[in-house]
Amino acid sequence: MNTMQDFLNLGLKDEVLKMIDERGYVAPTPIQTKAIPVAMNGRDVMGQAQTGTGKTAAFGIPILNRVSSGRGLQALVLCPTRELAVQVCEEIGFLGRALDISVLAVYGGQSIEVQFRALKKGPEIIIGTPGRLLDHMRRGTIDLSSLKFLVLDEADEMLDMGFLPDIEKVLEQCPSERQTFLFSATLLEDIRGLASRFMINPELVMVEPEIKTIALLQQRYYIVPSRQKIAGLCRILDLEQPKVSLIFCRTKKGADELARLLNRRGYSADALHGDMSQRERDNTMQRFRQGRSRILVATDVAARGLDIEHITHVFNFDLPEDMDSYIHRVGRTGRAGRGGVAISLVEPYQTRLLRNIERHIGKRIESASLPEAESSVSIQKDRLLSRLRETARSPLGPYDNMARDILGSDDARKILAAALKLLAEDEVELETMEFHIEMEENIPDEMRAHVELPLGRNHGMNPRRLVEMIVANTSLRPGQIGDIEIQRNCSYVEVPMDHIDEVYAASSSMLGEKKKKTRSRSIEKKKPMH
Ligand code: AMP
Repeated sequence: MNTMQDFLNLGLKDEVLKMIDERGYVAPTPIQTKAIPVAMNGRDVMGQAQTGTGKTAAFGIPILNRVSSGRGLQALVLCPTRELAVQVCEEIGFLGRALDISVLAVYGGQSIEVQFRALKKGPEIIIGTPGRLLDHMRRGTIDLSSLKFLVLDEADEMLDMGFLPDIEKVLEQCPSERQTFLFSATLLEDIRGLASRFMINPELVMVEPEIKTIALLQQRYYIVPSRQKIAGLCRILDLEQPKVSLIFCRTKKGADELARLLNRRGYSADALHGDMSQRERDNTMQRFRQGRSRILVATDVAARGLDIEHITHVFNFDLPEDMDSYIHRVGRTGRAGRGGVAISLVEPYQTRLLRNIERHIGKRIESASLPEAESSVSIQKDRLLSRLRETARSPLGPYDNMARDILGSDDARKILAAALKLLAEDEVELETMEFHIEMEENIPDEMRAHVELPLGRNHGMNPRRLVEMIVANTSLRPGQIGDIEIQRNCSYVEVPMDHIDEVYAASSSMLGEKKKKTRSRSIEKKKPMH
């Protein structure tokens, strides 16, 4: 177990120890225990550690211990995002206070004039995003010739964001007599390649991801076919009523789209991703922090380095492909010992990935079934009404007179019903019946498929009829039939993959039968008229 004594044993300057104490750190974290002595010995360090492990202080402390006030720029930290740059600046700035070390963050999106003025004061440490940093170097407002330390923070993210050419340009301008630290959540091929070109015999330090913090979380998963994920997510949101949620999507486009659809369904959600301008990102974060939006839909990259304390629920709308991302994502909730909930939507073909995640975190994730559609429908009806009531409180302009005219007409009720129907158009669930049925027979997920059948509610279809129809007309047994969703003109049913054709043929022939029947009925009806 680490103690404050371990900080005292590191041979740090009193001023640094004083600020460590003021910051409230009572013991070094594992990455600090490993990285600080190596760095203080003058070695290059390649660290595998994520945000939340104390990595900033792991490189910040040895740097602070060696830089001197008033001697110009001595250390440069490259970061992928503005948010991370600001956080790193705040952390190192605090720890450097007693030494009178000034730390400046430079990033795109902030007025360059403001940065010019701040640079004139001669900060000893600069934390910057690659693009803006290069801009300053070209203008001659940042000069790296006296640099002693260079840090590549979240190097994997920087590479993912396409910063490699910029990083290389910065590296070319750094003096070769320097110490280099690289921190990254993953140390894959490309990172090692970068390290081999720009670091000298780096010592590798690694820490286990913070599995222990996620042990406190409630972790749950729902198996949901891809098409039903949005409806499924809404049902879970309706029943859980989370105070503040962070929803992870795989792509920027996906995050945008999900936020848009959630808003159309009456939830207040904002997207956060790298394609947004700095101002848009700031506005989004402000709305979220002030509680004006309660759902943030983000990509992994955008969510990195965000310091949001009060998230009650993390959703993996798209399951992450790599294990560490899972830990990183769900670790965003349940901070400071508070319980949190982590919910994953797992597509049927992803169960193997889910098992790998469970193995990685050393804990089983609880399986859950989607709440019944009925309870969700009543919640959605309430929401529809409350949306109307809320709008009714605002000025209604010409619609008020229109409503008065309608109320005077005979079909007022019908017109109101039609208005509700239009308003609810996106709330698919009012129109859809879904039934989560566990397939009794043990058929692996990857061998199952969802077949679209041309029979819906308009054809008199309901789940019981659908099962009867399939069992009567195919070789399938009831236990081989899984999830069912009945829509207006079609339905979806989960069956073993090798029976798809058979089921589809049965439903088509049944549709043919129905057509014949309808036709004969209408002929019969007409008879008495003659
Ligand atoms: P980081 O991984 O650098 O983003 O740090 C995550 C959080 O841990 C930050 O809020 C730091 O202020 C905090 N932290 C860093 N080192 C320690 C330490 N030794 N003890 C307690 N908290 C720390």
